[in-house]
Amino acid sequence: MELVNLKDSSDTASFCYAVQKGLGKQQGLYFPEKITPLENINALLAMPLAERSVQILSHLIGDELPHATVADFVNNAFTFAAPLVAVSDNVFSLELFHGPTLAFKDFGGRFMAQCLTHISKGKPVTILTATSGDTGAAVAHAFHGIDNIQVVILFPKDKISKLQEKLFTTLGGNIHTVAIQGDFDACQQLVKTAFDDPDVRDGLHLNSANSINISRLMAQICYYFEAIAQLPVEKRDRAVFAVPSGNFGNLTAGIIAKLLGLPIKRFIAATNSNDTVPRFLHTGKWEPNATIPTISNAMDVSQPNNWPRIQAMVDKGWIDVDIITGEAVDEEYTQVAMRQLAALGYICEPHAAIGYRSLSKSLTGDEVGIFLGTAHPAKFRETVENVLGQSIALPTALAEASAKEAHFTDIDNNYEALKAHMFSILK
Ligand SMILES: *Cc1c(COP(=O)(O)O)cnc(C)c1O
Repeated sequence: MELVNLKDSSDTASFCYAVQKGLGKQQGLYFPEKITPLENINALLAMPLAERSVQILSHLIGDELPHATVADFVNNAFTFAAPLVAVSDNVFSLELFHGPTLAFKDFGGRFMAQCLTHISKGKPVTILTATSGDTGAAVAHAFHGIDNIQVVILFPKDKISKLQEKLFTTLGGNIHTVAIQGDFDACQQLVKTAFDDPDVRDGLHLNSANSINISRLMAQICYYFEAIAQLPVEKRDRAVFAVPSGNFGNLTAGIIAKLLGLPIKRFIAATNSNDTVPRFLHTGKWEPNATIPTISNAMDVSQPNNWPRIQAMVDKGWIDVDIITGEAVDEEYTQVAMRQLAALGYICEPHAAIGYRSLSKSLTGDEVGIFLGTAHPAKFRETVENVLGQSIALPTALAEASAKEAHFTDIDNNYEALKAHMFSILK
C-alpha cells in the first residue's frame, strides 16, 4: 500500500511505516495514493464478516503483509458482531457497539493494536492519544498488558461521561491517563505539539492511536460492507448512510468503502451543534467556532482532524462532493429523536440518535436509511435515563468497570507540563 502525506507529497509511506508513524511531516495525514475498486463485490457480500474483511484489508494493504497475517489480525480483532437492526420499514441501525468497550471504536482500536504489536516486534513504543470519550477506552483495552507498548491517554476533564471515564482510567499497568483542563480540541492540539517535538517523538518512540492512524481507518471500512450485506438484495443500491460525526474518521472510511465499489448512494455528515462541516458544505467557508459541550460529547469537535482526507478525495476528483450533505442536530432535536426511537421500540443514545434525526430530515423517495449505532445506550446511561424517563441496565463490562477506582493525573492545558509528566512516568 502506497501512502502519501497530504501536506507534503514527497513524504510517502508504506502501510507498516504509516501505522508506526501515525502522522507524517508537518503533522500531515497519510492517505492512499490510489484506491483500486474491488472486483467481486457480490461474492464478498455473501461472505461472513471476518472472511470478507480479510479480503478487503488484504486488497488495500497489498503484498506488504502476508494474507495469513492479515487474517490473524482480523480474527483477533473482529470478535463481535455488527447487526443491522430495522427500526422502521426503510430505516436501519448498524449496531457497532457490541465490542468490549461498547462503541464502534473497538473495531479500529483492536485492529490497530494487532498491526502495531506485529510491526513493533517487541521494541518500545509510546502511544499518545486524545479521546473525546470512546477512543480512550477502545485503545486502552486493545493494548492493555502488551509489554513493549505504553499508552498515554489525554481526556478533557469533566467533559466525558463517568462511565466512559471508568472504562479507561481503571486499567492501570501500561495504561496511563491524564485529565487535561480544557476541551477535546485542546487535547488534540497537545498531541500534535508532542509529535512536532523531536525529544518526545523520537525519545519516547511516539505513535498516535487517534483516528488519524491509517490502520484504524482501514478497519472501519469493513463494517460498511457488513451493513450492505445484511440489507435485503432489492434495497442494496438505495442505501444512504447517516454518520454521526466528530473527527470524521467514520465518514472517511465510508467514502473509501464506496470508492472500493460498495453500492452506497450517498452520505449524511450528521453533527451536533459543533457544526463546522455542515456549515462548510453549505457555504464553502471553513469557520470553526469554539467547541460547545453537548449530550453527544464524543462529537464535541469543531476542528475535525480527518476532514483533509475527505477534502483530498474531492480535490482529486475521486468523489463528487454532492454525495455528502451536512445536517447539524441541536440538543432539543437530539432528545426528540431519542424519544421517537423509543416510541418505535428502539432505545438509543444521543450520538446515534443524531444520525437517525438527520435521516428523518433528509430521506426521499425509495431511499433506505442506515444510521451508525456508534455507542451502546448504557454507555450514556444518565442521559438516556433522563431523556426517556426509564432505567437502563448496565452490560457486564460497564458494571465491572464502574465498580473500580479511577486513576488519572490532572494537568493544565500546557504542553511543557505534559512533556515533563510523560518523561517522569516513561523514562
Ligand atoms: C468517536 C465517536 C463519534 C464520532 O466519530 P468520528 O469518527 O470521530 O467522526 C460518534 N459517536 C460516538 C459514540 C463516538 O465514540
